[in-house]
This record gives sequence, C-alpha cells and structure tokens, in this order.
Amino acid sequence: MSTVTEPLPDLRRLQPHQLMGIRCVLCNRYLGAMARRLGPPLLDRWGYRYQLYACRPHCPLRRFPEP
Ligand SMILES: [Zn+2]
Repeated sequence: MSTVTEPLPDLRRLQPHQLMGIRCVLCNRYLGAMARRLGPPLLDRWGYRYQLYACRPHCPLRRFPEP
C-alpha cells in the first residue's frame, strides 16, 4: 500500500483553469507536462466530475501542511 493521502481543495474555491487541469490546484502554477493526479476524481454539486492535478513531484507553495 503506497496510497498518498493529501487534503483536496474545495471545488467551489477553485478557478476554471484549475478545474480543467491547466493549473495546479494547490498553488495555481501553470502545469504543462509536469503534473500529477491529485486524489480521486471529485464530483461537484451538479454531478460534474473533475480530476484535480498538482505540480510534480512537489508543489513549491504549500498551502496545506504536511502530514
Ligand atoms: Zn502547485
């Protein structure tokens, strides 16, 4: 088991580019090819599915504390 549990941001607080996987959901940086999936896909309150992405391997800005 190597499941990484990271806190996922609130979908309602993300910008459209973050929801589309263009920018990191944690630091809002442009991802390009350096992206990693962040957790399982999330559903918003209308039932839309979003796969969140973050910087790889680590976000330069940590808005969430390390476990
Ligand atoms: Zn980031």
